[in-house]
Amino acid sequence: MPRVLVIGSANLDFTCAVERLPREGETVSGGTLHIAHGGKGANQAVAARRLGAEVRLVAALGRDAFGDQIVEQLAAEGIPGEGLQRVPDSPTGIALIVVDGEGRNQIAVAPGANHRLDPARVAPADLEWAQVLLCQLEVPPPTVQSALETARRLSVFTILNPAPARQLPPEIFPLVDLVTPNEVEASRLTGVQIDGLDDAARAARHFLEWGVQRVIVTLGSRGALLCDGNSAQHFPAFPVRVVDTVAAGDAFNGALATGLAAGGTLEEAIPLANAAGALACTRRGAQPSLPRRAEVQEFLRQLKEKTSPCG
Ligand code: ADP
Repeated sequence: MPRVLVIGSANLDFTCAVERLPREGETVSGGTLHIAHGGKGANQAVAARRLGAEVRLVAALGRDAFGDQIVEQLAAEGIPGEGLQRVPDSPTGIALIVVDGEGRNQIAVAPGANHRLDPARVAPADLEWAQVLLCQLEVPPPTVQSALETARRLSVFTILNPAPARQLPPEIFPLVDLVTPNEVEASRLTGVQIDGLDDAARAARHFLEWGVQRVIVTLGSRGALLCDGNSAQHFPAFPVRVVDTVAAGDAFNGALATGLAAGGTLEEAIPLANAAGALACTRRGAQPSLPRRAEVQEFLRQLKEKTSPCG
């Protein structure tokens, strides 16, 4: 089984669906509450696990009932609890989401324990075990940097999904084999306005100049653009009936890490990631929308049948 180590956040998401978003100081009643497991780290770990990877997740939770709930849910997915640190004096991270009938939302996040994930909590043994390390930026950058340094020393392939975009120390980029921003993140980090493939390639060149080996800019319904020092290659998205794009990027990154840990090339792993991202768009929510391996394989098989001259 491919072995993926994820270092990142785990949250509970409380979503209140209402007819319209409240204005400042206003109460909108009549909503329906939906509680889901989230956090980019946990989402990407679950995505990789459902696609067939053996996954370890290093994350920080509070010593509270929400933390217990996350540990249980991850165990049910087949992700062990050893890397889940229970932090005293900090609550488990939560997100409060208000969403209206049109899918517009307002989100407030209390990161809590996620901001207490310190470098000492990343066990070198986990990095020795891993074939791919996958990180995002909902935990402190020094923790991410320390994990990337150890990974580099051990020749473990490193993926940084720079989400949400934030200023990073320049020493981080040369430790990254593959950076995977979406358009907004690529734009925020590089200052390049992105509207199309040429702009995405221009933004990618900044990351390459900063020392990253390869860049994938994810482009929503336009798929993904892979750039290295010599070339840019576009992988179009797969057409689906979109219900909700939440966690498309998490599905993409989890699938990408799994495909690469399985020994696949980027040219093989990116279509798998595009398929996982597309399928995540066909269902509501974050973790509930993350597809399983059989489903992705069936989706790709059907597409091939449709496009093959004999099909
Ligand atoms: P994020 O979810 O982080 O904002 P993107 O919107 O770029 O990231 O989506 C990540 C990936 O999910 C895309 O590269 C693509 O593979 C897939 N995806 C997203 N939106 C769509 C869509 N409307 N149709 C098909 N695939 C999509």
